[in-house]
Amino acid sequence: MTNLKSIANVEVKGKRVIVRADLNVPVADGLVSDATRLERLLDGLKDLSARGARVVVISHFGRPKNGPDPEMSLLPVAAKLSELLGRGVGFMPECIGDDVERTVAGLAEGDIAVLENLRFHKGEEKNDPEFAGALARVGDIYVNDAFSAAHRAHASTEGLAHLLPAYAGPLMLEEISALRAVLEAPKRPVAALVGGAKVSSKIPILKHLIGKVDKLIIGGGMANTFLMSHGVDIGQSLAEADFVETAREIMTEAKAQNCAVVLPEDAVIAREFKSGVANAVVPTLAVPSDAMILDVGPKSVAHMSDVLKECRTLLWNGPLGAFEIPPFGTGTFALAREAARLTKEGRLTTVAGGGDTVAALNAAGVTGDFTYVSTAGGAFLEWLEGRELPGVAALIKAQG
Ligand code: AMP
Repeated sequence: MTNLKSIANVEVKGKRVIVRADLNVPVADGLVSDATRLERLLDGLKDLSARGARVVVISHFGRPKNGPDPEMSLLPVAAKLSELLGRGVGFMPECIGDDVERTVAGLAEGDIAVLENLRFHKGEEKNDPEFAGALARVGDIYVNDAFSAAHRAHASTEGLAHLLPAYAGPLMLEEISALRAVLEAPKRPVAALVGGAKVSSKIPILKHLIGKVDKLIIGGGMANTFLMSHGVDIGQSLAEADFVETAREIMTEAKAQNCAVVLPEDAVIAREFKSGVANAVVPTLAVPSDAMILDVGPKSVAHMSDVLKECRTLLWNGPLGAFEIPPFGTGTFALAREAARLTKEGRLTTVAGGGDTVAALNAAGVTGDFTYVSTAGGAFLEWLEGRELPGVAALIKAQG
């Protein structure tokens, strides 16, 4: 894959630089409740500002259906960005048009301004060339720093890249290099740990990974369907009988590709899916018919830890159990801590991502110890499926 050109070495002084960021952060009662995504943008924005760019930040926010909606304004996000940057950040109640062009033309070198939610215009999600053209009139240079929006072919992530000199921002580059380090040129052996509730939502990921990794560790509710495919009675456990055949196909294909599949050998079971209920550890071959599997057991954790010790790279998506409900996070947290320990010792490169995975690693207190934890959500998952991300593809194409 071609290397993306970075904005880092481009002369930006006096230029109007449009930065496609992901400002789609949680907002409650007009206040940003989790600023993680914004914090990660700060260094890149400060750098452009310090180099004399006139910085114009654009983003989507929520899913407005019928044009402008005050509930989905980026104004509170711009205010938070200003607070985090410790300096004034302009806000324009539109993202295209004469007023925006005039105001942007009046920005001083180093100024930063946020434009209103792109999705107030239907042209954004339709990747309408006219809308992309209107956005292009606001800038001289385009920087895409929103990997997490790169799985969408929208005007601000795809169309605009072809209309202005286009570059990748630092977050985009960081994310792509972490992902490439795991699947394109990884240190081998490589393990992938895939967990979570359902096989059905992870079939493309599993099919892609078995051709890339040496070991595939399967946990969580989805492991139950794989156990079923081996004829194991899993009692009342969450499973998808319709996907037993798919699980079989994946096992066969994994074997053909020399990818060893590791399934849980013991499990933590309970009779109810709620916090603090009586639970027990049993071999997966001995799950009582009235019980359900809610976590992997200690033998499975020990075996999976041994697999990690043999590997140099780990890609992690999805929890090993119902980690939100104590004590069914025990297996996930124990293996996460082991992966973190091996990472700190320099023995393992660990890349993780996907909504619940980030929450699980946060709960285990190891996020900072992994090599890279992606907060990109859908884009991370599509990349795991081996799909081309239109936002990244557009940058590559535009850069020639
Ligand atoms: P996903 O969004 O597919 O990654 O699934 C994450 C969800 O799977 C979490 O909410 C977990 O509670 C749930 N989960 C993981 N293991 C199990 C299990 N054995 N039984 C029921 N739910 C599970």
